Amino acid sequence: MVKRDYYEVLSVTRTANGDEIKKSFRKLAMQYHPDRNGGDADATEKFKEAQEAFEVLSDADKRSIYDRHGHDGLNAQGGGFGGGVDLSEMFGDLFGSFFGGGGGGGRRQRQGPQPGNDIQVVVDIDLKEAVLGTKRTITLQTEDVCGTCNGSGAKPGTQPTPCRRCGGQGVTIQRQGIFQVQAACTACGGRGMINPDPCSGCRGNGRVASRKTEEIDIPPGVDSGNRIRHGGKGDAGSAGAPRGDLEVVVRVKEHRFFQRDGHNLICQWPVTFSQAALGGPIEITTLTGDKVRHELPRGLQTHEVLRILGHGVPHVRSPKKRGDLLIQVVVDTPQTITPEMEQLFRQLAVMEKAQVASPGKKSFFSKLKDWISPDEKK
Ligand SMILES: [Zn+2]
Ligand SMILES: [Zn+2]
Repeated sequence: MVKRDYYEVLSVTRTANGDEIKKSFRKLAMQYHPDRNGGDADATEKFKEAQEAFEVLSDADKRSIYDRHGHDGLNAQGGGFGGGVDLSEMFGDLFGSFFGGGGGGGRRQRQGPQPGNDIQVVVDIDLKEAVLGTKRTITLQTEDVCGTCNGSGAKPGTQPTPCRRCGGQGVTIQRQGIFQVQAACTACGGRGMINPDPCSGCRGNGRVASRKTEEIDIPPGVDSGNRIRHGGKGDAGSAGAPRGDLEVVVRVKEHRFFQRDGHNLICQWPVTFSQAALGGPIEITTLTGDKVRHELPRGLQTHEVLRILGHGVPHVRSPKKRGDLLIQVVVDTPQTITPEMEQLFRQLAVMEKAQVASPGKKSFFSKLKDWISPDEKK
């Protein structure tokens, strides 16, 4: 599902101030609050959407991350939504207890089996690995179902019993004026069940921390910021619910010579004066170490770009398709010139009617050498 822009959700401009945001959210919250819509699923969705938008736009830090990086920026922060907004402060106790009064841990529990949490890891690879694909062995900290009690949290041989306070519902319902409000049951923490005799392996929690290693495949063609999802490798869910996912976020390090531009790779390549003028074959070593012969055209100018087909980055979804290698040639002026070369360059200068420094004029460095050790000349 595509997430709508938070400013659009709240119908405010991008420069709206805190009061405007609050006012707009208040209006939407009154309109779509589940208690006012008989639990209508559409209204509940709209309410949640507005609540999430308000939670971000009313928080200066989150708002600035969102402004710069959008939804992805907030996801990368790993912050969950819901429960962060103290509605009781905004609406008095009208809706307050629906959200558990806005106090810590007051997030309303969903009923039924809860899927496990997703885990995110960041993997750094170099550009060559991004082109060829690679593997990494990573260590994960996950929450697993306790093996002693199979997740029930009850000591083997005993049974959890339904919570008496909420009758096993996990929530308590109270009437406040014309509204019915629900809150997570404080006696069972919203689970609906109580363990009179907790399991010693997990202290009644039903879960234990576990460390495991996973070998993950990073496909050819990945780029910085790509996310690879491995279903069912996250935390264990509650009984009957699926595990969360493992999400691998790829970061590609910069290369000394090669740069990436979409599916193309770009690098500079030196050619001599004569190669630039006359053309001829050169052998290029690609990022992956392949040797590729390429025919230079005559009359090449410095910084001209040559395209070597199919030596770029594979498309991550169809690895047979590859971008190109773009070679920017740089004419490499010789720094040491033999007497024969000097003679030829002088002949060339005459033909070009170009003024050049007269023979015998020493370079700065050879003069410097003479200065440092004058005796070596003789
Ligand atoms: Zn309860
Ligand atoms: Zn246990």
